[in-house]
Amino acid sequence: MRGLLSKLILTILVLLLAIGLLGRFYTAKPEPENTEEPAAAVTPEPEQSEEPQESPQPQESSTPEESPAPSETPAVNPEPEVPETPAESPQPQESTPVESIQPEPVYTEDPVFTDVNSLLIVANKTHRLPEGYAPADLINVNDVGGWGTIAPYMRAEAAYAVAEMTQAAAADGVTLMFSSAYRSESYQKQLYDGYVAQYGVERADRISSRPGYSDHQTGLALDFIEGKGADFTSDFEYSASGVWLRDNAHYYGFIMRYPKGKADITGYSYEPWHFRYVGVDTATAIYNVDVYYSFEEYFGVSGGTEYK
Ligand SMILES: [Zn+2]
Repeated sequence: MRGLLSKLILTILVLLLAIGLLGRFYTAKPEPENTEEPAAAVTPEPEQSEEPQESPQPQESSTPEESPAPSETPAVNPEPEVPETPAESPQPQESTPVESIQPEPVYTEDPVFTDVNSLLIVANKTHRLPEGYAPADLINVNDVGGWGTIAPYMRAEAAYAVAEMTQAAAADGVTLMFSSAYRSESYQKQLYDGYVAQYGVERADRISSRPGYSDHQTGLALDFIEGKGADFTSDFEYSASGVWLRDNAHYYGFIMRYPKGKADITGYSYEPWHFRYVGVDTATAIYNVDVYYSFEEYFGVSGGTEYK
């Protein structure tokens, strides 16, 4: 028994020793390699430890933010996009019209500029008077104290204002005289056709109105003359009548209808002889803005050089 036991113990010891040696050998083998690899393995580790810290964080923070963001973005995008697209496209469209066309619908809808009984009735290249319109209260200005040479008829209120203005000018030593005031549509047609025959349409449109578009057809306008060579030229502004009218006409309710430098707005070249009755308050208000301020500018009424 003893021999057997001691043999068993010895065998166990040998086995243990062999296992221990094997274990040492196997663990020892990777060790030398590990010294190099660990370096490589260590580097990845710190990199990993850094990466995981950085990337997870941004990933976590960005992902959660992005994922909620997408949900917000779709919500935000649709909202701005829908209102923006309609808002942006209409806005530019409106803003363009706002400057050029907005006054048009706003003011042309105002009856004060389209009602023939209004003293602010507009006749220009974008405002045609009613077909065949003739004022009902035309009177002969010469009968009430004016001096008209060709067509001395005006609406009553304007005619009396001309008479009063003529007296005031006379008191200042200036003799006011005018050629034509009211012109019927048919008379305007004769004039316009004559200019077209003489100068062609382009020039005719700069110096004369087509029938139905003339300020003279309102019965509120008139052309002053002096008979000294400056009539119907820009030099009329230097004439005694021209100077007096420019400085005083507004006191009697008249404005210079086609002021200097406003041809693109009024549609007509400078006419220092053509005055239009609008009433004292309006005439004074326009004059007070600028001596060459135009009716169209003051009221934001459409005008221009192109017929509509
Ligand atoms: Zn005129």
